[in-house]
Amino acid sequence: MIKKFSLPRGTADILPDEVLKWQAIESRARGICNTYGYKEIRTPLFEETELFARSMGQTSDIVQKQMLNLMSQKQEEDAAGFSLRPEGTASVVRSYIQNDLDKKEGLSKLFYLGPMFRGERPQKGRLRQFHQIGIEAIGPGSASPYLDAEVIALSVNMLKGFGLKADQFKLKLNTLGSAEDKENFSKFLREQLQPHVSELCQDCQQRFDRNVFRILDCKNKICREIVHKLTIDHTHLSKESRQYFQSVREVLDSLNISYQQDVLLVRGLDYYTHTVFEISCPLLGSQDALGAGGRYNDLVSQLGGSAVDAIGFALGIERIVLALGKDGAFSESPLDAFFIALDEISLKRTFIFVQQIREAGISADMGYRQASLKSQMRLADKRKARYVIILGESELQKGVVTVKNMGDGSQTTFPIADIHKITDILKK
Ligand code: AMP
Repeated sequence: MIKKFSLPRGTADILPDEVLKWQAIESRARGICNTYGYKEIRTPLFEETELFARSMGQTSDIVQKQMLNLMSQKQEEDAAGFSLRPEGTASVVRSYIQNDLDKKEGLSKLFYLGPMFRGERPQKGRLRQFHQIGIEAIGPGSASPYLDAEVIALSVNMLKGFGLKADQFKLKLNTLGSAEDKENFSKFLREQLQPHVSELCQDCQQRFDRNVFRILDCKNKICREIVHKLTIDHTHLSKESRQYFQSVREVLDSLNISYQQDVLLVRGLDYYTHTVFEISCPLLGSQDALGAGGRYNDLVSQLGGSAVDAIGFALGIERIVLALGKDGAFSESPLDAFFIALDEISLKRTFIFVQQIREAGISADMGYRQASLKSQMRLADKRKARYVIILGESELQKGVVTVKNMGDGSQTTFPIADIHKITDILKK
């Protein structure tokens, strides 16, 4: 028996029918980024493991449990330790620093699009290889509430641009404040949670010391009950942080962007400061997050760059595809011309003709072997051809081709040598 291969668990083939939706999402995302002044950046699919550990935090779930490490054949490369990228921000910041973008541009507005990898337990909407569209605005002067609002507006408008209706997704917003405010908040949380530590789930008992914020978004029923009894507000924030958040909300209000403020929204990664947000689609069930983002004012300097502020977000394409379901106009673009050869000799001439027509920038295809007119017309229908071009013995003798307009059924013959006339018709 010859072994048949299957794709690795947690990955997916995107077959041609589905790819249409992906292409539309990608090209709309590029278009929208362009209108907001964000330029594409492409970074490697893998980086030093330490980059991810230092940026997301050793205690984050991603670094603790989900990194996919690469083994190299070469000992000296192993020493550095590489991992497939689990997200885009760390790589973009690494590139920003390495390429001195801070010296080249005042404010770098960047976007990326591509696969990310996390060793998660696969389920619907949760894969080991998935795709994100993300943006990052990094640079001196980027700590402006206008930029927070722009980034949030951009993510909302992107989702609308893909065809999602405003009532299909929810935006949640919070602020974590500065690094100092976060420290105060974690102290406050530990004090409040101390009496309940033994009741928390195993994971949260560990989170209590290592990453107390994560307890706030634990899905365990008992942890949730404990968390919901706490009185959490923004009193741990400095006056400046509260004012900043107030300004962000005012700008969002002026843009008519609706959001729900949620003091429990903390995000699991160390690098977030100030504004954090998450967009979910309740219809998607347990894996309902479409995207998330926030400000990370200290990350660039923590990774050895200059002290510049930054904010970004990432949307998951698989989840967007799931949320769109059958909605959205993602039909295949019709073929301009399908060529039908009625005998062996015409087949040879037709093949050359198809190449010439394609060289003129017209999409064209054929059946590649001689078959009945009826069966070839079926193929043309299947390809949604706008025109069918028929070549048989009698046409060859007269030096003409028959061009059939599939829209209105009309037929015209043209001299086969008059390729310009034929391409003009096909372009209409
Ligand atoms: P995160 O960096 O975890 O906030 O992820 C941002 C977005 O990427 C999420 O809201 C999801 O839409 C998507 N995403 C994250 N992890 C996965 C995964 N394992 N499979 C599919 N999509 C994911």
